[in-house]
Amino acid sequence: LTFKELGIIESLCEACTALGYKTPTPIQKEAIPLALQGRDLIGLAQTGSGKTAAFALPVLQALMEKPQPYFSLILAPTRELAYQISQAFEALGSLINVRCAVLVGGMEMVPQSIALGKKPHIIVATPGRLLDHLENTKGFSLRSLKYLIMDEADRLLDLDFGAIIDKILKVLPRERRTYLFSATISSKLETLQRASLSNPARVSV
Ligand code: AMP
Repeated sequence: LTFKELGIIESLCEACTALGYKTPTPIQKEAIPLALQGRDLIGLAQTGSGKTAAFALPVLQALMEKPQPYFSLILAPTRELAYQISQAFEALGSLINVRCAVLVGGMEMVPQSIALGKKPHIIVATPGRLLDHLENTKGFSLRSLKYLIMDEADRLLDLDFGAIIDKILKVLPRERRTYLFSATISSKLETLQRASLSNPARVSV
C-alpha cells in the first residue's frame, strides 16, 4: 500500500519519499482515509508510530485546497514535542511553502507575536502560551481555524492543562475538524473527547 493509494496527493507523496517514508505505518493506514473523508478522529497511538504524519498529511492536503492563515492549531504538552511537530509540518509541507509558528512557554512573547503577524498556516503551541497570545496579542484570533489537533492528550491532561484547553475550545469555531491523539484513555480524556469531538472515528495500533 502506498500514500497515493490512501488518497494523498502527488506533491505530499513526493515529500514522503524525500523523507524516506516508503510505505505508510499502521496508524497512517487507518487514520488517513478517515481523515480525508472528513471524519473527526480519536487516535490511540504511541510516539514512534508515525502519528505525526498521520495527522499532518490530511491537514496539509486540506490546506492546499484552500490556503489560509491560522488554518490549523496543534496543541502539545511540551516545548520539545511542539518543535518536533512543527518540523514535521515544515518537512512534509516543504514543497507547498507551508508556514508554521511555534508558541511555547519559557520563551519571549514578542518574537512569537511577530511570527503570528506573518499569518502562519499552522500554529503549534503549548496550551498556556496559546491562551496568553489569544488574550494579549493584538489582531490574533482563531475564528477562521479549520483543524484542531490535540497531541499526547493524556499528557496534556496529566499536566493540568484541562481548564486552559476548555477556555481555548470556547473561542474556536464549532465548524472544524478535530483529531485527538493519545497513548492511553482515561475518564478525564473521555470528558475532553465529548467536549471537543463530533462523531469521531476511532483508530488504534
Ligand atoms: P512519530 O510517531 O510521529 O513521532 O514518528 C516517529 C518517526 O517515524 C519519525 O522520525 C518520523 O519521521 C518517522 N516516520 C513517520 N512515518 C513514517 C513512514 N511512513 N515510514 C518511515 N518513517 C516514518
